[in-house]
Amino acid sequence: MGFINGRILAAGVLAAAALGLAGMDAGRRPADVDGARIAAADREPGNWMSTGRTYNEEHFSPLTQINDKTAGKLGLAWSYDLDTFRGVESTPIVVDGVLYNISAWNITMAHDARTGRLLWSYDPKVPRDVGRLACCDIVSRGLAVWKGKVIIATLDGRLIAVDARTGQPVWSADTFAGEGGWPYTITGAPRVFDGKVLIGNGGSELGVRGYVSAYDAETGKKLWRFHTVPGDPSKPFENKAMEMAAKTWSGEWWKQGGGGTAWDSIVYDPKLKLIYIGVGNGAPWVQKFRSPGGGDNLFLSSIVAVKADTGEYVWHYQETPGEQWDYTATQPMILTDLKIGGRTRQVLMQAPKNGFFYVLDRKTGELLSATPFVHQTWTTGVDMKTGRPIETKEARYGETPVLVSPHAGGAHNFNPMAYSPQTGLVYFPVVQAYMSYAAAASFVPGSRGTGASYGGFEAERRQQAAFAVANEKAWLVAWDPVKAKEAWRVPYPRDGNGGVLATAGNLVIEGTVKKTLAVYRADTGAKVWESGDIQSVPIAAPMTYTVGGEQYVAVNVGWGGGLAHVQAAAFRDLNVAPARLLVFKLGGTAVLPPAPPVRQPPEPPPVRASEAVVKAGGELFAKNCALCHGQQAQGGIKDLRQMQPETHTAFLDIVIGGSRKDQGMASFADVLTRDQAESIHQYVNARAREDWGEYQRAAR
Ligand code: CA
Repeated sequence: MGFINGRILAAGVLAAAALGLAGMDAGRRPADVDGARIAAADREPGNWMSTGRTYNEEHFSPLTQINDKTAGKLGLAWSYDLDTFRGVESTPIVVDGVLYNISAWNITMAHDARTGRLLWSYDPKVPRDVGRLACCDIVSRGLAVWKGKVIIATLDGRLIAVDARTGQPVWSADTFAGEGGWPYTITGAPRVFDGKVLIGNGGSELGVRGYVSAYDAETGKKLWRFHTVPGDPSKPFENKAMEMAAKTWSGEWWKQGGGGTAWDSIVYDPKLKLIYIGVGNGAPWVQKFRSPGGGDNLFLSSIVAVKADTGEYVWHYQETPGEQWDYTATQPMILTDLKIGGRTRQVLMQAPKNGFFYVLDRKTGELLSATPFVHQTWTTGVDMKTGRPIETKEARYGETPVLVSPHAGGAHNFNPMAYSPQTGLVYFPVVQAYMSYAAAASFVPGSRGTGASYGGFEAERRQQAAFAVANEKAWLVAWDPVKAKEAWRVPYPRDGNGGVLATAGNLVIEGTVKKTLAVYRADTGAKVWESGDIQSVPIAAPMTYTVGGEQYVAVNVGWGGGLAHVQAAAFRDLNVAPARLLVFKLGGTAVLPPAPPVRQPPEPPPVRASEAVVKAGGELFAKNCALCHGQQAQGGIKDLRQMQPETHTAFLDIVIGGSRKDQGMASFADVLTRDQAESIHQYVNARAREDWGEYQRAAR
């Protein structure tokens, strides 16, 4: 072993010297990180070695060179074009002077963290037609590093370890193997601990069965798997937890998979040797189609604790029993100790889509508090005796559209939240938004839909959509988890604001939908600095590190993701510039290349199709297109109300012919006829005409 270690060490020394990296200690290979090093992350605050920096995932840095007195001198140090116009959600990792980043289509890069010089890039060549399966953009939320390897998870389900020195793949595991070919995708960041890599997946909007797996970080061998919902009860259950969960379901839920995907937050607790899994929404959304007899449908919308070594169930807390609003519990979780009621408790904190801020005892799963942080119409609060939300009658919608808050995008989504142990506050972006929910008239299990009819063209839906647009609000909140109340807030013009970083310099740093990076005092929320126009929106979380004695703040800037898809606001110009990684430091003087000119949408052609065709197109749009292109064709990855003349001409070539497959827009010929695609075209055009006057007013 000594000989082998010696060789690796020698390679590392050569690599560090050859790369000329200021931050790399001689004798260390790139990404030379293990569990002990991550567990002691505070001893080397200049590094950021896992997605939330520490195993507690606070997104908090002890660094203080950039602070509430100096942050006014921030300027751009370097930037790197990510060669995509799609969303970028990842938090970079920095180890010993090397910054590792992952962008759209899982393209992975290593940079000299001081200069931005590209050391290597690795393209896992994700088949572009997989893009159609990703409900919420082709994003990745991050990567992991372990003992000289960078570990990524790809949209098409591969877990890949890449040599951190060369960018060459070392091993690859198919994490979808053995699960029956459901339309899964992966957008979450792998977590690594104790020689194991954890990864979940997404796909509940199309119908899948969720699970989390652990793999050997050295070899890629599968070690354990925990399903988050039960499978077909005519077959043996995988474990006692599945047997218990199956008692809370009815009908033939397994035909649509049931959902419950763990697509983002999975947290390792080194003290209690537990893994906390944030579990997603039901598949299909509408409970009467999923589980006709009702029931809680465990473990949908739950936090589930399992043993880190074996994946064996320990406890769960279900946030939204019988979930049917896409209220996932997949949002970020932060672990810390809090003094509550005179006792120090080991807690887990989460602010999920359903609008409650939860504090749980993470040893037992006991609910300590559940407090609304937005206006909710689906509930009047949580009964602390039972831990269950008190649902309003109207919220459990049928075929008549009901306006519900929060919307499916959530009061808080994936955007990382930060916890400062100095202020005792949790910081996260909040969205106050309504959505018009209705069940479809019927649903065929296994038909890859949500069972909801959340589009449509009826007057009632139009009125509800208008109300939703008029009443959308967004802000950055500082939440006191002990007092269970808001400490301060910074209002924003609309939703779409980024993940959050807190630092010991009394700072909270967040990208804004105004295309800026903003810095606030962590104690009061007073603004300390805000960048100029950075050309796109940093929906990702900033992170910070040091190289050569200088502190840097890095953030991926690229508009997109799930929230962009459900945005109800008017015409947008948010993704005109390519996504970039931006890195700031005190006294930085770099400048961005000028933004490409905004191409104004032309006046939409007159509507020539009959009302019946437009209505039919609206229904087909809602079923097939709305997840990516927005409710009522507003916003989304690409706002289809803004089509250029050449796109109108090419519409059927794109939708049926698949001519833009390489950009992620694969053919829909398997589910749509040419006539149906043309009716969608007519519907989209009718929507563009309808909103054209509003757009012209806004542009004036
Ligand atoms: Ca979902």
